[in-house]
Amino acid sequence: MTQNLNTVPFVSVENMMQLALEVGIEDCIAEIATYIEEDFRRWPLFDKTPRVASHSDVGVIELMPTSDGVEYGFKYVNGHPKNTKEGLQTVTAFGLLADVDTGYPVLLTEMTVLTALRTAATSAVATKYLARKNAHSMAMIGNGSQSEFQALALHKLCNIKEVRLYDTDPEATRKCAANLADTDLNIVICSSGQEAVEGADIITTCTADKQNATILTDNMVGAGVHINAIGGDCPGKTELHQDILTRSEIFVEYPEQTRIEGEIQQLDPDHPVTEIWQVMTGAAEGRRDDRQITLFDGVGFAIEDFSALRWLRDKLKTNARCEMLDMIADPDDPRDLYGMVQREKQRMVTK
Ligand code: NAD
Repeated sequence: MTQNLNTVPFVSVENMMQLALEVGIEDCIAEIATYIEEDFRRWPLFDKTPRVASHSDVGVIELMPTSDGVEYGFKYVNGHPKNTKEGLQTVTAFGLLADVDTGYPVLLTEMTVLTALRTAATSAVATKYLARKNAHSMAMIGNGSQSEFQALALHKLCNIKEVRLYDTDPEATRKCAANLADTDLNIVICSSGQEAVEGADIITTCTADKQNATILTDNMVGAGVHINAIGGDCPGKTELHQDILTRSEIFVEYPEQTRIEGEIQQLDPDHPVTEIWQVMTGAAEGRRDDRQITLFDGVGFAIEDFSALRWLRDKLKTNARCEMLDMIADPDDPRDLYGMVQREKQRMVTK
């Protein structure tokens, strides 16, 4: 890949899919998980802000920026649960990485597929630190776009052997089961959330709704279970009954954002939570014993996207699945932008 200062590598959906298939979905997730762990371990040096959200009656559009002082990244992402009924996706995204020194972009990319990879990687990292070491079965409630990635991540990184699927729409479960059929995961199709959680060591909820839902009630969660609650990620959009939260040790990404968007919006603003990065650095305790219920209240934070962008930028060094976009004006004299535009007039005439 050759990059002039005025061209920026762009990774299309097609190129992202081909890259993911070439590397292998599970290996992509594992590699991104390494970048996420690396960035979470240096958490304090990042610029952090809750994402900037623009809500409407039917969904949300968000910008998620961060910087480590050397590079700057942001993601544009939407969440529109009603979209699937119209043949559109609930979540789509694109993002950009830039050089802090010049402010010039160094990568522009689709992030719909990349978000699924990084969300799965984040769940796997949290699960690795918080679930019981002998966990081997997971319930996957909500079998939409994210679900296969979530299952594969826990298979690859957390030794999960069985996935118990449930979705209110049986078609979604059939799709998910068919997509996972060629893996060595044991797939169990369940007809209720209750059936899905029976015997599961880990429960991942990833449903899409515009309102508070109760995907898990208190009686469904037994001692020792680890929960990844990742579908509730907006004000007024939660998945767990409040009683589960008060019985759990709660781990979050960035409390300032999670208190607005996560399951903990149901709790008092000073309810104690642990920042997951501190568990990774050893500054805070993770799971204490095999009977404790641990909850990763994952809403998705900008640093995870930054890690995914860094991974992709590094990947392009050996696998140039991108095209170069003429995105940055490059006048001969940096102050003669007007002259550059005028010279283009002559080129247009002589063409
Ligand atoms: P999707 O629309 O493709 O799938 C959602 C599935 O949930 C659908 O199959 C739907 O039938 C099912 N569902 C809805 N209500 C249900 C219920 N009560 N019980 C069981 N199943 C139910 O959406 P997606 O792209 O898979 O995303 C799912 C959710 O995850 C969205 O809310 C999205 O905003 C969120 N998300 C979070 C992160 C994060 O980082 N935490 C990242 C990506 C997406």
